[in-house]
Amino acid sequence: MNMISDLIQESVRDVRVAAKANVVVVGGGPAGLSAAIGAARNGAEVILLERYNHLGGLASGGMVLVLDDMWDNHLQEISVRGVCMTFIERMAARKLAMFPRSDEWGEDPAAYRKWGRWGTFDFHSQKTPHPVCFAAAFDPDAMKRVALEMVESLGIKLRLHSWFSRTLVEDGQVKGVICETKSGREAILADVVIDATGDLDVAASAGVPHVGGTYITTTVFRLGGVDTEAAERFEAEEPEAFAALDRQIKRILGGSWGYWWLKTPLPGVVWCNCPHMAGLDGLKPEDLTRAEVQGRK
Ligand SMILES: Cc1cc2nc3c(=O)[nH]c(=O)nc-3n(C[C@H](O)[C@H](O)[C@H](O)COP(=O)(O)OP(=O)(O)OC[C@H]3O[C@@H](n4cnc5c(N)ncnc54)[C@H](O)[C@@H]3O)c2cc1C
Repeated sequence: MNMISDLIQESVRDVRVAAKANVVVVGGGPAGLSAAIGAARNGAEVILLERYNHLGGLASGGMVLVLDDMWDNHLQEISVRGVCMTFIERMAARKLAMFPRSDEWGEDPAAYRKWGRWGTFDFHSQKTPHPVCFAAAFDPDAMKRVALEMVESLGIKLRLHSWFSRTLVEDGQVKGVICETKSGREAILADVVIDATGDLDVAASAGVPHVGGTYITTTVFRLGGVDTEAAERFEAEEPEAFAALDRQIKRILGGSWGYWWLKTPLPGVVWCNCPHMAGLDGLKPEDLTRAEVQGRK
């Protein structure tokens, strides 16, 4: 029977055991953060590994704007709380998250006029305008900052700039992971390893059966110096002229959601979740490079 040290020797050269913990979470996005925070709150010693320089994953690094639709429209109540709500409260305290109050939820056209351009409405509803619901528009850097605060306050051991490359499996059990770093290869051992890479990197490397899939790719961008009040006034007062211009812009963009721009907590800065690029595989460097180049153009 192989010991972990033998396995490390066999599978990778020049590796050192850099750390051990009860729980290792791979990936510091919303899922990984929640897993790490949950484990630490329950008394586990936790290591959180992340390849990039920030926490929040796509939600912060991918400049997502809206934590959307956290509302049960049948019960008329908030359906997502927990770690997510703590993030929203802490970002809102810095005026870097905006959300409609409960008395604004529903189908009142005035509420939609106020909140539509924040994207805080029920996307799934077939009704026009969509009902306003509990959802929060947030600033990506606020999420990075709150994430670091929470990780630090719970004593979670954070290892950024650590690129997971391989799962260590012994007798059918995951025992740890290997990371590539600027200091060389590092083994991190744990009783429990949680895959929060968003791409199933850890599970796939362990040989777990899985299915692959692709979705549209967008390279989100933001525009500054926008007079959003004038734009909203134009939309309300001259709907036909607005719609014609909007159609023209969407053609240039090459695919977008109904609203190609939304307001952000930073005055005069709008968020654009476009263009939509299809047929790219997020696991292939060639496709990811094409997305960056094509999207920016
Ligand atoms: C353009 C865009 C717009 C979106 N808009 C919205 C929206 O408005 N509202 C909404 O709710 N959702 C939105 N989403 C979806 C939302 O971002 C994701 O559902 C969410 O980020 C998934 O969280 P996650 O933690 O599972 O994965 P991710 O956020 O992908 O986090 C995975 C983390 O793992 C890290 N990682 C991956 N591989 C490795 C590795 N090998 N080694 C080390 N670390 C690794 C990554 O760097 C990342 O930090 C949007 C997504 C995109 C791309």
